[in-house]
Amino acid sequence: MTAPTADLMDYDDVVAGFDPVMGLEVHVELGTRTKMFCGCPTAFGAEPNTQVCPVCIGLPGSLPVANAAAIESAIRIGLALNCSIRPSSQFARKNYFYPDQPKNYQISQYDEPIAYDGHLDVVLGDGTTWRVEIERAHMEEDTGKSLHIGGSGRIHGASHSLLDYNRAGVPLVEIVTRPIEGAGERAPEVARAYVTALRDLLRATGVSDVRMDQGSLRCDANVSLMRKDATEFGTRTETKNVNSLKSVEVAVRYEMRRQAAILAAGGEIVQETRHFHESDGTTSAGRRKETAEDYRYFPEPDLAPVRPDADWIESLRGTLPELPWVRRARIQSEWGVSDEVMRDLVNVGAVDLVIATVDAGASPEAARGWWVSFLAQQANTRGVELDGLAITPGQVAEIVALVDEGKLTTKLAQQVAVAVLDGEGEPAQIVADRGLEVVRDDSALQKAVDEALAANPDIAEKIRGGKVAAAGKIVGDVMKATRGQADPARVKELVIAACS
Ligand code: ADP
Ligand code: MG
Ligand code: ZN
Repeated sequence: MTAPTADLMDYDDVVAGFDPVMGLEVHVELGTRTKMFCGCPTAFGAEPNTQVCPVCIGLPGSLPVANAAAIESAIRIGLALNCSIRPSSQFARKNYFYPDQPKNYQISQYDEPIAYDGHLDVVLGDGTTWRVEIERAHMEEDTGKSLHIGGSGRIHGASHSLLDYNRAGVPLVEIVTRPIEGAGERAPEVARAYVTALRDLLRATGVSDVRMDQGSLRCDANVSLMRKDATEFGTRTETKNVNSLKSVEVAVRYEMRRQAAILAAGGEIVQETRHFHESDGTTSAGRRKETAEDYRYFPEPDLAPVRPDADWIESLRGTLPELPWVRRARIQSEWGVSDEVMRDLVNVGAVDLVIATVDAGASPEAARGWWVSFLAQQANTRGVELDGLAITPGQVAEIVALVDEGKLTTKLAQQVAVAVLDGEGEPAQIVADRGLEVVRDDSALQKAVDEALAANPDIAEKIRGGKVAAAGKIVGDVMKATRGQADPARVKELVIAACS
């Protein structure tokens, strides 16, 4: 029996009557130079089918060779997640037909994942810590991409499909949680906080660029509900490819409300994959979920087991970075900012950018100011994440330095930043090309001041009479006349000098 109704239950009623259970599967594309089992490059955005060879398009007789750099990254991920590393782990064939999968099987790991039994402690909005248990992290290869032409982009309604195998064989690590129970109404928040913490950890570890918008970090969210008196898990759905942090939260909440409405109406949940729709935050039915048996897993006969020796593992443990949240706490006390300020920085995704800007020479205050206000607005109007803006922390620090040296006013500095964002080049070059530097020449300023005073005799009279506050209007006119390129403090001095 399927859903008698597609209605959603009010969230408060959902959590009053049911306990959610979640399982999060995160795929991370490793930033290795070459693919998992061949020497093809992995760079994103190349012309279709230009980064392929007999191995990654599955031609008969070709043989895979495991990429040592990818194994190293997988071990470091396992260690960062407090996992045990298996002394001998086997690759396995996961058999299924799909056009973007040229071999008709995917090389993955099954009963011997390289890393298992770990945990990640994530900090929630109220400052409490939630421990997410990690079941395993295993290595596998990515699939190619299907492009559906002549419709909305979905396969339904398309006239034909094209295949791009550049991504086929790119190294992936899949990180799978144990069922997350007991989060109650906070389940969507826990899901988002987990993926956020995992992304930050993976970024700090340097194994991936973790760009959710480019698919280098992808999350599948399993959700089921238990009635308050139930003792066994309910049937789960698996919402695939939830591709932003916000969407993880939205997708979990939506599935909870949808499943609750079905269960309350006496229906049953179908075990299936579901598509997430970014546009309206809903999910829709995908395919009935295969079970492990359907994949006919068996050990990959063309690859030897991976046997990392204990010394190597220990030396890799030594390369792990300071944990992002430990680093944050340290930085917060170094900068002497409040919990609220720090939380705002975290929420807008600015912490690492601010740190990098400070490392490049800016003061913490200036770096913070730029990222959380002007650049955050720019990201908003340009529809990108803060770290997707086309400006580097180094460039921001350079602009801050130009302001500190008095070469740029804040207004001019913002114009320079916009030009950098528009791809016009480096800050110093933009200042030179556009002649944006602050006018230092007093004689040029004096002329503008005299003109402004002559045009406003009544105001000039007031200033002469001791009403210094009236100088603001004259300063404004001079700033306008110099297209913002004067130093307002100097202009004010000149105005007052001219009137005394
Ligand atoms: P699959 O092959 O279906 O993707 P995995 O074992 O890779 O299965 O992942 C399943 C995920 O769902 C895991 O994170 C697991 O903890 C979680 N999970 C298992 N059972 C349930 C359930 N009833 N409700 C919610 N999550 C579940
Ligand atoms: Mg899975
Ligand atoms: Zn190849």
